[in-house]
Amino acid sequence: MQISVDKQVALVTGASSGLGYACAQALAAAGAQVVINYHSHAEPAEALAAGIREQGGQAIAVGADVSQEQDVEALLGATVDAFGALDILVANSGLQQDAPITEMTLEQWNTVLQVNLTGQFLCARAALRQFKRQGPRPWLSRAHGKIIHMSSVHQLIPWAGHANYAASKGGIDLLMRSIAQEVGEQHIRVNAVAPGAIATAINAETTQGEAGKRLLGLVPYGRIGEPQDVANAVVWLASDLSDYVHGTTLFIDGGMSLYPGFRDNG
Ligand code: NAD
Repeated sequence: MQISVDKQVALVTGASSGLGYACAQALAAAGAQVVINYHSHAEPAEALAAGIREQGGQAIAVGADVSQEQDVEALLGATVDAFGALDILVANSGLQQDAPITEMTLEQWNTVLQVNLTGQFLCARAALRQFKRQGPRPWLSRAHGKIIHMSSVHQLIPWAGHANYAASKGGIDLLMRSIAQEVGEQHIRVNAVAPGAIATAINAETTQGEAGKRLLGLVPYGRIGEPQDVANAVVWLASDLSDYVHGTTLFIDGGMSLYPGFRDNG
């Protein structure tokens, strides 16, 4: 059994680094034509696209701020101009602006919600409209489009000092499930992945050195995750191997959401 998304068109947001980069790379390796969205760092996105093309694949890099409606519309337009359709959206872009709740500014709150939650709404809406416009493509996939939202274990686990981030990820859970309920009958599949501690730029301070060792105490499986761990799950969720998986969040966290503090009788 081989996982394939051959010739399907995949758009990955925030793909110039970290999990988005790994997802774009993995989708391309599984045969997809990939649109690599970046926000502020064009160079790694352009380099990834060039690398995929050198390997015989198809990829372009497109800049867009996912929190801006016009940018998202233009991103979808560029996707369809380049590849004629969209089959898979990985709504991955996200950021943190941490502060104790009494010191959190409205700007910090708004920025995180706008990118992490409104951005996911805008991208999902644009993808759903495109799925409807283009209709089924049964020679490529059983579903008439697939959306994978990038959530976090913090859709479940409260996180002191990160209320804006946790609220945005909690919001993604019900956004994803509500959309899934609404569009299931159109044969569009909508799911989320919820990573735990995966070593990327977003959490470099907490996954390395002494902090990294402390963090391991929260991971029953005993290792910090790698971007490939998430990318593997995203490719599976995008493929027909998961065709009956709909409205689900897949936790990719080495057991972080198992309340590891209770391991020794609480
Ligand atoms: P990262 O900082 O490497 O990636 C985040 C990406 O989002 C960057 O490429 C950035 O350019 C992009 N981005 C930020 N603002 C944007 C905007 N306005 N428009 C478009 N793109 C924008 O970190 P990462 O760990 O790869 O994070 C990717 C996603 O995974 C985020 O949604 C994050 O919340 C989620 N996540 C990460 C972890 C982890 O442990 N690394 C755990 C749980 C969830």
